[in-house]
Amino acid sequence: MELKDFPEDLQPYLIPTPSGEMVYRCLECGAEYGIDQLLYTCPRCQGLFLLEDKAADRLRQHPGSFWQRLFNYRKMLNVPAVKGIFLYHELIAPVIPPEDIIFLGEGHTPQVAANSRLQDEVGMAFGYKNDGQNPSASFKDRGMAAALSYLNYLIRTRNLEGVLAICASTGDTSAAAALYAAYLGNKLASAVLLPHGKVTPQQLSQPLGSGARVFEIPGVFDDCMRVVEALSERYHVALLNSKNSWRIRGQESYAYEIAQWYDFHLPNKVIVVPIGNAGNITAVLEGLLRFHDLGIIDTLPRVLGVQSHHADPVFRYYQEQNPTQRIFVPVTVKASVAQAAMIGRPVSMPRVIRRVEEYLRRAGEGSFAVVQVTEQEIMDSMLLANRNGHIACTQGGESLAGLRAARREGLVRRDEEAVLDATAHALKFSSFQQMYFDNSFPPEFEVVPKPEYQNHPQLLTPQANLASASPSSPAEQQAFTQDLVAQLAAILGLKSKG
Ligand SMILES: *Cc1c(COP(=O)(O)O)cnc(C)c1O
Ligand SMILES: [Zn+2]
Repeated sequence: MELKDFPEDLQPYLIPTPSGEMVYRCLECGAEYGIDQLLYTCPRCQGLFLLEDKAADRLRQHPGSFWQRLFNYRKMLNVPAVKGIFLYHELIAPVIPPEDIIFLGEGHTPQVAANSRLQDEVGMAFGYKNDGQNPSASFKDRGMAAALSYLNYLIRTRNLEGVLAICASTGDTSAAAALYAAYLGNKLASAVLLPHGKVTPQQLSQPLGSGARVFEIPGVFDDCMRVVEALSERYHVALLNSKNSWRIRGQESYAYEIAQWYDFHLPNKVIVVPIGNAGNITAVLEGLLRFHDLGIIDTLPRVLGVQSHHADPVFRYYQEQNPTQRIFVPVTVKASVAQAAMIGRPVSMPRVIRRVEEYLRRAGEGSFAVVQVTEQEIMDSMLLANRNGHIACTQGGESLAGLRAARREGLVRRDEEAVLDATAHALKFSSFQQMYFDNSFPPEFEVVPKPEYQNHPQLLTPQANLASASPSSPAEQQAFTQDLVAQLAAILGLKSKG
């Protein structure tokens, strides 16, 4: 729709103009730093940052209903800069001019309700939000769109040259980083660090295909993270892990979209998110709080985090009921099918702790919880979901397993409605599905396939080996076809048309 056709009062606001005064705010000592430098931790105390807009009060000059209308109408605007996560430009990164925004098709992923059979099985209404339908097939694109748009802006305005973007990854961060960096062409080079043998072949193919320098090291993600952290302390690199607070801002869009899907009414809603490095759960909480601050939503939904029993430091932290007794202890991870969340020392833990405090204060007891599920439950739930028309990855399976655990434990009621994060596309994790089908899980996974979820291709062999007769005569082709038709009809028990 053309600008002139929009309501007049909204016209001046539809195409965002740079505004705001963003700074890095240290969560530990409160120090603030300008965003004209690449910073990831506080130089004074090593604390983690969140981005703060010091001029955020200007946003309060409009009522919540204004923002609702603006975001609804903006959807009809055919301007690439606001087609993705920057539909919410004022809340995500208002300092970035639209001309620097990179849009590769991220965000506005579909929310797909579970069919009645699946809802009955789980005992409540729910659906998936398919973040696997982002360009690199995971939610990480949301954060990368923000981080790389900011870098693009910085490179242009400060005439930077030879910037190297680097990240450690369980697979999806590197796929997203490499994709967005590739789009920036020779403005930016990218390198990714992966735990050898701990990302799927599909995930490995992504940064390779995008032309990133790909390095593998022995160990797990936590080891990779330590290396890039040390590297970024000593050398000039742009760190693209979720320590980078621009990524958290971008990922807030996930919560905004859910709110908008429900026309900004979120009573009785439950948002279920698998937790790995805890960046995503931070972003979901931050996003909901920000919408709430501005009166865009008046009810905060329940938020449920999910962790596997093989990588559950956040679950363990919240197991202690007395907040003053809680101490964070990293865990040594074990093999997990939710490999993208197989993290024992979540970088964003200090952010989570603070945001959860604020969330509970505003939304009340029980508005946030972390549940723990087994590897078995993750695989079974993923297959159950996908056999009912979803495209959940193993982490998406973890979301469903978490919802079922929460139902069992009475943490959610039957009359609530859950939105499960399918954080990546099923295809990225098909190797775990294959292990399930072949019953070839190494014992440390502790997964025993259920026959009703297993599936295999069945090779049909024509009686005479007609298939290899090529080029075949019309008579041979007909015999080949007839033979296979007869075999299929017998196997499938088809009734003849007579
Ligand atoms: C990164 C990732 C997670 C974990 O998200 P965090 O922000 O690290 O907690 C879960 N699922 C998938 C598919 C991921 O790529
Ligand atoms: Zn500090």
